[in-house]
Amino acid sequence: MSSQANKHRCPVCGYPDLLEPPRTEAGGGSYEICPCCGYQYGVDDDDRRTTYLAHRELWVKNGMRWWSRGIRAPKNWDPQAQLSTVASGLR
Ligand SMILES: [Zn+2]
Repeated sequence: MSSQANKHRCPVCGYPDLLEPPRTEAGGGSYEICPCCGYQYGVDDDDRRTTYLAHRELWVKNGMRWWSRGIRAPKNWDPQAQLSTVASGLR
């Protein structure tokens, strides 16, 4: 279960190991919660109207803390480096 092909990157924080694409090709949210930043696709975006950027700014402001209690942060997790993988691509 280590195939990178099945992993998806969180567009909010850059976390690279989401199990599903955040949004399907049809545009629906996955309802997966990013274990890193806590953003839930299909809920935070569709229901709460929180943009990726707004959630990211909040996450950064709160110290870029690992969100999930059930899923552990990767070894040598570097939120800054992770964020840099998506930071430039978002409006
Ligand atoms: Zn995230």
